[in-house]
Amino acid sequence: MRKQLAPILIAILAAAGVLAQQQASVQVVPNADRLRQHVTYLASDALNGRRTGSPGANDAAHYLAGEFSRLGLRPGVQKAGTPRKLSEAMSRYLQTFPYAAGVELGKGNTLSVQTGTGFPQSLRVGEDWMPLAFSANQRVENVQTAFAGYGISSTELKYDDYAVTNAKDKAAVIFAGTPDGNNPHGQFGSAGEVRFKVAAARAAGARALIIIASEELKDDRLSRLTYDNAGAAGIPVLVVSRQMAPRILGTTKVTLSDYESVADSRTVVAAADQKPNTGEGLAYPITLSSVLRLGSKDITLNISTDVMRQEVPAYNVVGILDGSDPTLKNETIVVGAHYDHLGRGGEGSLAPRSGEIHPGADDNASGVAGVLELAHLFTTQRPKPKRTILFVAFSGEEEGLLGSSYYVNHPLIPLANTVAMINMDMIGRMKDRKLIIGGIGTAKEWRDIVGSGNSLQGMTVTATNRTGNDTSNGTTPFGVPVVVSANGRPIVSMDSARTFDLTLNEDGYGPSDHSSFYSKQIPVLFFWTGTHEDYHKPSDTSDKINYEAEARVLSLIARIVRDIDQGDKRPTYTVAKSESAGRSTGFRVYLGTIPNYADTNDGLLLDGVRDDSPAANAGLKAGDRIIKIAGRDVHNVYDYTYALGEMKAGQEYMIEVVRGAERLTLKITPAARK
Ligand SMILES: [Zn+2]
Repeated sequence: MRKQLAPILIAILAAAGVLAQQQASVQVVPNADRLRQHVTYLASDALNGRRTGSPGANDAAHYLAGEFSRLGLRPGVQKAGTPRKLSEAMSRYLQTFPYAAGVELGKGNTLSVQTGTGFPQSLRVGEDWMPLAFSANQRVENVQTAFAGYGISSTELKYDDYAVTNAKDKAAVIFAGTPDGNNPHGQFGSAGEVRFKVAAARAAGARALIIIASEELKDDRLSRLTYDNAGAAGIPVLVVSRQMAPRILGTTKVTLSDYESVADSRTVVAAADQKPNTGEGLAYPITLSSVLRLGSKDITLNISTDVMRQEVPAYNVVGILDGSDPTLKNETIVVGAHYDHLGRGGEGSLAPRSGEIHPGADDNASGVAGVLELAHLFTTQRPKPKRTILFVAFSGEEEGLLGSSYYVNHPLIPLANTVAMINMDMIGRMKDRKLIIGGIGTAKEWRDIVGSGNSLQGMTVTATNRTGNDTSNGTTPFGVPVVVSANGRPIVSMDSARTFDLTLNEDGYGPSDHSSFYSKQIPVLFFWTGTHEDYHKPSDTSDKINYEAEARVLSLIARIVRDIDQGDKRPTYTVAKSESAGRSTGFRVYLGTIPNYADTNDGLLLDGVRDDSPAANAGLKAGDRIIKIAGRDVHNVYDYTYALGEMKAGQEYMIEVVRGAERLTLKITPAARK
């Protein structure tokens, strides 16, 4: 029925309906001052940028738990017995998930170099070498070394250091960076990232990867034991000082800078008709490199790596408003936003240097303030919502949707009863009434609900029979005075200047927490006011938030949630057109897999596969763990991404997965990236 009605007509009918219920109704409008208070605190220096697992993030979690409690939400985590202490009561709002916040050296780190039959020389960990934070903890004995340039291997770039160097069963020794330097936007792109170098080394059969520091070891980024929570590397990976590198390479005649110039000479062949520089075409100075390629069969290494990745608790904060309808209360609407941010920079920061607090006022104190404000609205409004609303603030989003991914795999209300997920991420920087809504293709009803909601934003309803129990500073549900015309009908006028200029995106996947829910076939909507020059920088501060506009965005979201809540039927899940298949990853092929970024066990766990994708056609399913693809072992998401980069569209490959207790080999044919 809805579809045939013009939005404005729907809007009038909806408004009239609300007015008819006016007598028993209490509605509150979103308030910019409350939003400002929440954002100002969450983005304050006291919380130190809210990096997942840090005291600042935990303080934020306790603040949110306190607010949920004050609003009368039921704690999300069920426990037997009445809490005896306030802290115990508060902890019931926290869903704990494991997070590797820090990495320390274990006691078993040794690296020794043996020349011929001589006495092995031990290198000192911390001074001569360091394991990387994601190194596997392994012992590798009597392994020869092989110099492998920058350790880059990329079919797409027609560049392969391992075609020149045979590193099979050896420890590959490479330089950090690329022949371009460390430019992430250079022609090497992600192929120069250390994670992909590890994958390339493993694909070449190396038993360990040794990276020569680009500066003093103690200053080198690689020696800092910073962990990306993406799983271990599968082989020992270590960085050695520039002083010790020649010893490992077993050379005294050739200097490190000679090695560097050899590595640099392995340039990428840009023109398609030129031969790739694999060493066959003498496209590099063969004499010196031939010498280098010999390596020294005299030199062997004994390597033992021992890094301790410390798991600390991280928290999703969950408060529940139970539905008032005896039947519909079994259905739940999830309203969420992530509260973690980047701390003092580092991984994910776009600041030129790290160390400064990244307040994350827009990203995403604005969204969390939105969750609190909506919780305020829905706990105060009468009549009460029919369906249950679960309010959640996620952590670990910036590290790869860790909190929401954990939630959907450990839901506090069954996912089968979760009818929709509303996500807010960066809703505080509205310009020119522009609002982006993602996930519009994930439920049949979304376009109508969103469209009529937006029309109502611009509508003024006037009526004279105002009732006394309307406590919201003399306004209607829409924040305007109520007047009724002589015939008792509400007078409605439209002001399109108060509606939003909407950009509607079909896809249910995207760079925020709604992705986790859509991967479980739950309809999602994602609200976003767009990116800006302060994104992921210390300048994303609370004074730059447009609080009045955010309040208007929340009034639209509240309308949409009410509309979902009032519906007789739950929203109908639909498969959305994908707009981001493979995009921005730089790969030429597309499989349609949805990796679980929170899982750090060996292999690559899938949260889902896109319908009608190569992955779906291959028979892959959510819950499968990919352990091998196209002849390459997959230990983590980087190995997988690396393998993808080496695959060709239209060609059939074998893929091995673990499904439950079974190990399956399937055939997959990648599609070309659109
Ligand atoms: Zn962010």
